[in-house]
Amino acid sequence: MVQLFLKKGREESLLRFHPWVFSGAVGHIKGTPQEGDVVSVHTDKGAFAAVGHYQQGSITVRVLSFEPCSIDASFWEKALRKALYLREACGLAVAAKQLDCFAPLAMTDSSRSSAREDPLAVTPHPSPFTSCYRLVHGEGDFLPGLIIDIYADTAVMQCHSIGMFRARQDIAEALLKIYGNRLVAVFDKSAGTLSSKENEGAPDTYLYRVADPRGEVVENGYRFAVDWEMGQKTGFFLDQRDNRKLVEHYAQGRSALNLFCYTGGFSLYALGGGAKLVHSVDSSQKAISLLNHNIYLNYPLSTVNHQSYTADAMEFLRDAAPNDYDLMILDPPAFAKHRGALHNALQAYKRLNAAAFSRIAPGGIVFTFSCSQVVSKVDFRNAVFSAAAISRRRIRILHQLTQPADHPVNIYHPEGEYLKGLAVYVE
Ligand code: SAH
Repeated sequence: MVQLFLKKGREESLLRFHPWVFSGAVGHIKGTPQEGDVVSVHTDKGAFAAVGHYQQGSITVRVLSFEPCSIDASFWEKALRKALYLREACGLAVAAKQLDCFAPLAMTDSSRSSAREDPLAVTPHPSPFTSCYRLVHGEGDFLPGLIIDIYADTAVMQCHSIGMFRARQDIAEALLKIYGNRLVAVFDKSAGTLSSKENEGAPDTYLYRVADPRGEVVENGYRFAVDWEMGQKTGFFLDQRDNRKLVEHYAQGRSALNLFCYTGGFSLYALGGGAKLVHSVDSSQKAISLLNHNIYLNYPLSTVNHQSYTADAMEFLRDAAPNDYDLMILDPPAFAKHRGALHNALQAYKRLNAAAFSRIAPGGIVFTFSCSQVVSKVDFRNAVFSAAAISRRRIRILHQLTQPADHPVNIYHPEGEYLKGLAVYVE
């Protein structure tokens, strides 16, 4: 194994279990590591500090272990099992020994068609059942550069580092070992997260597939079609599960506007919570098509007052008449992908929120989010504060929101806390 030696005193952050070694901390390297190789990291005096994936760039090593160990099949199996234990502890995944509980999802074609005829059979609210969750959340699961989402019978893997990409077959095998025949497919969706130089132009592909995946999940009893092959990120935004539940709680009798709706997560919950009207807006036609399908899956008899619009969210909001809505959800894509974009991103959050605050009906509630990692909680709160001041409305914070338990934050890696939100009451 190639050995990498740090400059004097630069092991401090590793001693505090921070999982990255920056290029500036590297003194010298014994050997010639290839991109994605497993290397060991040592202090300038040669004491062992960590093992991790090597990659040229500002983050030179992403740490996999602070103890000497081999990164082999048993490493991946153990790491994924630990990740699953946490999801079990959170009540998201059924205990490993009861994994057959996935069965309730496997609705037969005949039960499906009878569900269509009987709206009560598909009324989503009574079932707390959830068949989708994030199994691995990068540094939050001590596996920097790796995301794995479970969509009922399918695992979707997204690699953000060359090392993880090179290990993808081993990781897939560990998944199969843990889940057995409960998984029918493992899909790698890394083409969009790695450059073609990094993955040698490898397209997204099934690493394993023994049957047609179901392509549908249940979240808190709501049914969603998920298109991991063509959809955004891994196919679905699992990170808004708890916040969607809160929207359901506040929706009764309200007129809701769901901006940046993607496939309709917040819209379905608002309808389920008793909203009298929901308008959903997204600039992606593909997302809107899937949203319309999801509405049909859950409310097949068109008993709900829902309208979807393929449009720019800001333009739609500008054209909305004041007081049209008394519940708004603003869940834009990350406005800042890197530090350099921070200032413009904060201005964009301010404009979006100010437009919402100035149009929402008195007594309205706005759920507003930022998923930009480089925007801190304080930055975001200040942007919303400025927006409130521009609108000159009396605004109070009801809830401070974040990512759910299956997107855990490694306490030694606070950068992992990326989702920030506020639910505010506007007089
Ligand atoms: N709230 C969603 C996730 C939103 S992701 C959920 O719960 O699933 C952000 C969405 O914003 C994406 O679907 C993207 O297509 C959409 N988007 C990006 N720019 C937009 C714009 N200018 N106007 C409207 N939608 C936009």
